[in-house]
Amino acid sequence: MLSTLNADGSRRWIKPKLSHGRFLTMRRVVAYALILIFTVIPYLSMNGKPLVLLDLVTRHFTIFGRTFLPTDTLLLALLLVGCFVTIFLLSALFGRVWCGWACPQTVYMEFVFRPIERLFEGAPGRVKKGWLAGKAFSKPAKMVVYAVISVYLAHTFLAYFVGVDELRQWVTRSPLNHPGPFGVMVAVTGLMLFNFGFFREQTCIIACPYGRFQSALLDRNSLIVTYDHVRGEPRGRATRAGDDVSLRVLSAGPEKRTADCVDCGMCVTTCPTGIDIRNGLQMECINCTQCIDACDTVMAKLDRPRGLIRYSSQAAITGEKVRLLRPRVVIYPAVLLVIAVAFLVVLSGKGAADVSILRGVGRPFVELPGGEIGNPVKVKIVNRMDKPGDYRVELAGAEGLRLTIDENPIHLNPGEAKTLSAMIVAQRNLLGHEMPVVSVRVTEISTPASGTALRREIGFRLMGPAQRHEREHESESDKPGREHGGGGDK
Ligand code: SF4
Ligand code: SF4
Repeated sequence: MLSTLNADGSRRWIKPKLSHGRFLTMRRVVAYALILIFTVIPYLSMNGKPLVLLDLVTRHFTIFGRTFLPTDTLLLALLLVGCFVTIFLLSALFGRVWCGWACPQTVYMEFVFRPIERLFEGAPGRVKKGWLAGKAFSKPAKMVVYAVISVYLAHTFLAYFVGVDELRQWVTRSPLNHPGPFGVMVAVTGLMLFNFGFFREQTCIIACPYGRFQSALLDRNSLIVTYDHVRGEPRGRATRAGDDVSLRVLSAGPEKRTADCVDCGMCVTTCPTGIDIRNGLQMECINCTQCIDACDTVMAKLDRPRGLIRYSSQAAITGEKVRLLRPRVVIYPAVLLVIAVAFLVVLSGKGAADVSILRGVGRPFVELPGGEIGNPVKVKIVNRMDKPGDYRVELAGAEGLRLTIDENPIHLNPGEAKTLSAMIVAQRNLLGHEMPVVSVRVTEISTPASGTALRREIGFRLMGPAQRHEREHESESDKPGREHGGGGDK
């Protein structure tokens, strides 16, 4: 059963106690640094371009000043696969370190929204109550502040997809001038409010696929936040006599020994996903380290060594030999290396433009008046430069051939793509039984001869009536009974 459900199936609202300690301090520093980075990235630029801009409408993705176009599917696929393999590797080594330390859901929930909630409604189990604790309007007041922060978050989030200049226009103009973008803004704000105000830890527990994969990504040697059951069990309540703190001696089989877990429940009440880490590795554990801080505080009070809950591995806890080098720890970096090399090779092959020459739709050739044969082609050019470009299309060294095209030279704005219909016209006697290959040359003529201008030649195989007759003959001879010179009864 989910930790956030009551026995009757209703939602059990989690209000975790905040546990102070060394990990909370470190996570706070990391979280506020990440919030700062997340906020300023849309305002930063590199090579005269935004540092990150994911333009979904035009499918132009700018990452670290480099723009990937819709024709860069292979590069984007390599980038995506590389990200996944990196996550696999990090998970194999350090468990769900991303979830606990860097995921925006955890960062904003634990270090922005929950602190505001404690401020307004008070922290559970604390003598010091919040500003408006117990007041009827504490919740509505909190939700108003949540809504304001959600508006800010939605704007920051959308800046990654539309850019800060476009966003500024959205903000400064009347919504009536741009109802579509305004609707997007309202929807994203609503989603943020729903997520952080209502859905909360459910995002990690039931919506995020990463948690589901964890059993496949981790092994017994992965670093995780874990409870030392060897040291802690059998658990039992601590007894106090004045200042003397002693642990109850518990019977565990034939031996008598003192267990360190005093069953105080602090690790459970501090958990933002409501689980008990003493039950072992669980899908709901986001490795937030709050239970480490909680238990360390208890151990300090009992004058016991801290680390009953700590970063360790399942193998280390049970006394097995810890293996740093495992097959997955070797294979993932090797795959990453292959992906990185492939990415660089493909990237270095990209010039000032992407050019493709495709056979026209429909009949492969047409017979023109005057005995000439025309092969329809589609010329597609994508300008990869950051400035407008002019591209001339011609046939390279072809006698008796000519090219007709709607526009030549072709003018393209930065990142623009055009597909033009063209026709390669040949004298009939040039198209014999051999299908000749002609070179279509595309030259970028707007850049002065600096050695960087594009000049690409692409081979295109012409077709003519001779090929049609051959094909008809082949298909006739392929029919059963004719291949061997007649019907089977001869
Ligand atoms: S906080 Fe530590 S001592 Fe207390 S119940 Fe959890 S594991 Fe046991
Ligand atoms: S079990 Fe511990 S580390 Fe895991 S989510 Fe709960 S408090 Fe965080």
